[in-house]
Amino acid sequence: MEVTNKFIAIKATIDGEPQEGDFELKIQPFSLSVKPGSNDVIIKNLYVSIDPYQINRMKTVSSSQKASKFSTRIAPGEVIDAYGVGKVVASGNPKFEKDDYVVGLLSWGEYSISHGFMLSKLDPMGFPLSYHVGLLGLSGLTAYTGLFEICKPKKGEKVFVSAASGSVGNLVGQYAKTLGCYVVGCAGSPDKVKLLKEKLGFDQAFNYKEETDLNATLERYFPDGIDVYFDNVGGEMLEAAISNMNLYGRVALCGVISEYTDVGKRATPNMMDVIYKRIMIRGYLAGDYMHLFPEFISTTIDHLSTGKMLVLEDISIGLESVPSAFIGLFRGYNVGKKIVQVSDDLGDK
Ligand code: NAP
Repeated sequence: MEVTNKFIAIKATIDGEPQEGDFELKIQPFSLSVKPGSNDVIIKNLYVSIDPYQINRMKTVSSSQKASKFSTRIAPGEVIDAYGVGKVVASGNPKFEKDDYVVGLLSWGEYSISHGFMLSKLDPMGFPLSYHVGLLGLSGLTAYTGLFEICKPKKGEKVFVSAASGSVGNLVGQYAKTLGCYVVGCAGSPDKVKLLKEKLGFDQAFNYKEETDLNATLERYFPDGIDVYFDNVGGEMLEAAISNMNLYGRVALCGVISEYTDVGKRATPNMMDVIYKRIMIRGYLAGDYMHLFPEFISTTIDHLSTGKMLVLEDISIGLESVPSAFIGLFRGYNVGKKIVQVSDDLGDK
């Protein structure tokens, strides 16, 4: 059977801050039948993930585009692949059957066609499907591996996280609290700061937009220095964090969102500090840690069921809202994991 598939594309490459006018809704004929003998899986998309890294794929040139198979350049007018949860409509792949829930690389569209690459059968385990896009999906794995595998915090250590009310950041803070660390987060509004302190259990939080001297701010919140910095933003915040790190401090370089839309912006941390304080700074990609997925899931479900962790989701409805949801990431509009619900056909099997 043939239907139409609506999807979101970029009109041209984007080299600054994304705007609504940079995107278009396209409609193409789409077959819901699998070609005989093919390995294809036809999927109805239910929830799709909205992630900052996509902006680096939309640029004319970015060093990220050749570094990983997940971050390749997006061509104008073409389907944009994105993480998400969907339901199988038809499958020629022996690993998937019609009506299976799946999680993995789908697209910013109504339907996706997958050859099985980065696609898994999903057991929702009684949780809402959207949780598997964020907390129990790649955002969760990113927070878990960056904190525990790279920074290896110990009980009582002092942890700083930037973009702390975002998808990855809020989880980093919550994981660090489960370990008994002192946790401070920064975010871009008074409401976000309140949420971090009053709902998510952060020891302290501050609005970085109200601070004029980030070095002095961090000195105020960390009179005994920072042991672990989980960096989501780069720029001046990374420089200030390095200045305030303790001996043998660890920095997980997860993302540098403040640099993504500002071509000339680069953090220039004091390298003498890095050397003399023997600071470890490590960039990483969560996709390299898929082998830790089972451990991450069981730990996280444990924390959820004992109430040690809360879920922070920010869901927009309808494929048409993908551009505004995406643009909002760079303006600080989202609180927690940004997701778009593409279909309302979420009925359980
Ligand atoms: P997110 O934090 O949910 O959303 C982005 C947030 O970043 C915004 O809400 C905004 O919050 C903040 N922000 C935007 N522009 C900023 C600026 N110029 N300066 C400071 N903060 C700014 O996004 P996420 O999905 O959790 O991703 C967080 C970071 O992790 C991103 O850098 C992303 O690329 C990275 N990441 C890396 C991996 C990996 O494998 N290494 C995987 C996933 C994500 P405020 O209101 O606080 O400004």
